[in-house]
Amino acid sequence: MNKIKLICPSCSSKGIVKTGKRKNKNQLIQRYKCNSCRKTFTASSLKNKTYPAKIILNAVSYYNLGSPQIEVSKLIGQRYKVKVG
Ligand SMILES: [Zn+2]
Repeated sequence: MNKIKLICPSCSSKGIVKTGKRKNKNQLIQRYKCNSCRKTFTASSLKNKTYPAKIILNAVSYYNLGSPQIEVSKLIGQRYKVKVG
């Protein structure tokens, strides 16, 4: 139902495939593999790397100020030296 857009944390490719699950103490962790650079990672490591809460908050406040999305991405990218969107 909910399709998450996955982007490789290493090369920013969108060619991500599921590659099995790993059992943790109390949960199943889905593992993913990048078809471009062949690195593997988990969804949680993805989250932490791509969008820290601070950046999301900043983006939201820019949206509230009425900035178009492309401008917001640029501003956030300059401020935090990250790729957004
Ligand atoms: Zn990759």
